[in-house]
Amino acid sequence: MAKRDFYEVLGVAKSASQDEIKSAYRRLAKKYHPDLCKEENAEEKFKEVQEAYSVLGDEGKRRQYDQFGHAAFDGSAGFGGGSAYSGGFSGFGGFDDIFDNIFSGFGGGGFSSFSGGSSRSRKVRGDDLLKRVRLTFKEAIFGCEKDFDLDVMEECPHCHGEGGFNSKTCSTCHGSGTITQEQRTILGSFMTKTTCPDCHGEGKTYAQICNECHGKGQVRVRKTITVHIPSGVDTGNRLRVPGKGAEGSNGGAPGDLYLEFAVEKHPFFEREEDDIYLEVPISIVDATLGCKIEIPTLDGNVKLTIPAGTQNGDKHRLRGKGISNESTRQKGNFYVLIKVVIPTKLSRSEKKLFESLAKEELSSQEIKNFQKFVKENDH
Ligand SMILES: [Zn+2]
Ligand SMILES: [Zn+2]
Repeated sequence: MAKRDFYEVLGVAKSASQDEIKSAYRRLAKKYHPDLCKEENAEEKFKEVQEAYSVLGDEGKRRQYDQFGHAAFDGSAGFGGGSAYSGGFSGFGGFDDIFDNIFSGFGGGGFSSFSGGSSRSRKVRGDDLLKRVRLTFKEAIFGCEKDFDLDVMEECPHCHGEGGFNSKTCSTCHGSGTITQEQRTILGSFMTKTTCPDCHGEGKTYAQICNECHGKGQVRVRKTITVHIPSGVDTGNRLRVPGKGAEGSNGGAPGDLYLEFAVEKHPFFEREEDDIYLEVPISIVDATLGCKIEIPTLDGNVKLTIPAGTQNGDKHRLRGKGISNESTRQKGNFYVLIKVVIPTKLSRSEKKLFESLAKEELSSQEIKNFQKFVKENDH
């Protein structure tokens, strides 16, 4: 069967404008939509219309067609492409794909005069941002609420996030937000779906873009946001604050904000993961005789009994009294490290007391054993 003339297929004059061709194509494509049309050969007619439009709808191809007719595309006229449209629908995976694009929002009507401007189309998520945050020891141990002044994107109050006024269904994609493009390869033609470049996938365009946000629907505002920092964070830990990173482009989502902590040292409490160490200095008298002392913990002061004969470096564990870690749901321990302080300066009376002690037999078994070894010294 001979191929029908493309102008004939679309029912337009050879002098038809691109708009006339486009609207004829739409009318016919809708008419022969196999789901809508009960006529026999609707599918074939639809293909024919599609094929005709793929050439006449493209000004370059239309010129070639005008000059050489079908020969321009059948490979014999030396146009290189070979199977330019002869592959037609071969690589195109079924009708349903294309109908979604052509017909959704069809009939929304008219040719919108305004088309978003830019030809960029892909939605791009914003970058993640990293912010270093200094915390006091207490803030890190117990968690806190911290305020940050950030530039965040917010819905434009002028257009209520629309980006413009008097919206119309996008004439390029007919409201679907995607367009089907023919891609030519040596294997034939393929139809691919891409985001509509005119409406960036919105499916509509605006007669007037919003001056406040320049069509983005969002405006940058300096804002104080309060972030809950969980208890137990430590230097180098990062906390993700979703959606507070850099703005996306073409309607893409914003990135995330990451807070990286640096925790200040405490003059007395030492931290090891969720455990807390506290060095407690006591006198040799208290170590020798034993005593009760008051020590600070994370939950306030507590009384601790130091038994008689406590040695330097003795360790006491207060189970579960360390850091209550919100993220890991673990509780650390609190360790008391005893440091027996040997006096370096004695008053006259103190010196007398020590001298009188020296006359007493105070040596421990450990010292006696050593002294015995020194005396014998027979290796
Ligand atoms: Zn706006
Ligand atoms: Zn569109």
